[in-house]
Amino acid sequence: MISALKCNHKLAILATLTLLLANNVFIKTNYAANTDMKKIFCIIPIGDIDNKILQHTRMELEKRFNVSVEIGRQLDEPAYAYHKHKKQYNSTKILKKIYKLKLTGYDRILGIVDVDLYVPERTFVFGGADVKKKVSVISLTRLRQGFYNQTEDSALFEYRTIIEAVHELGHTYGLYHCKNDKCVMFLSNTIEDTDHKGAELCSNCENIMEEKRALLK
Ligand SMILES: [Zn+2]
Ligand SMILES: [Zn+2]
Repeated sequence: MISALKCNHKLAILATLTLLLANNVFIKTNYAANTDMKKIFCIIPIGDIDNKILQHTRMELEKRFNVSVEIGRQLDEPAYAYHKHKKQYNSTKILKKIYKLKLTGYDRILGIVDVDLYVPERTFVFGGADVKKKVSVISLTRLRQGFYNQTEDSALFEYRTIIEAVHELGHTYGLYHCKNDKCVMFLSNTIEDTDHKGAELCSNCENIMEEKRALLK
């Protein structure tokens, strides 16, 4: 009797295992079938951001990353990240806030703010990214010619926005800073660095990006 019970028990375990395996196969097949689906990025405006720059960034990112890009709901100005003495905003705190939204259905998120950003180690940053959480943020403040007391140039402003957006999103793919000063992954210390490097990946970073994207499929 006892051995029969044990035997039944084994059968039950076997049945459960078979079911689990079958389920697993089903999930995997399903996943494989979805690999051709386009990835989706979400742009989150933080504070009032001009719609023209949002739309331009959306279209450019769609082309450059071959993804769909949606504009998410606007967040309030990031008062929680403000540093009274520096008169700047902590980019890490903004990244955390975006992540806490727990937005689902997006592969990557890019916040756009129009306040000056810093991290404790640097006097200012053009943007920031959290590689693991796949969340990034850029600031428009230092991308305008007006910030440097020069005549505004909307085409240059739009181009700089793309450079910084591609750079921060590049980090979310696991790309590090590149030594090539003509590569978008070069670390900009000045706006001249940004203008000089442009929005394209060097061939080395391009290869790494292709590998990462293939792995993520
Ligand atoms: Zn960087
Ligand atoms: Zn590079």
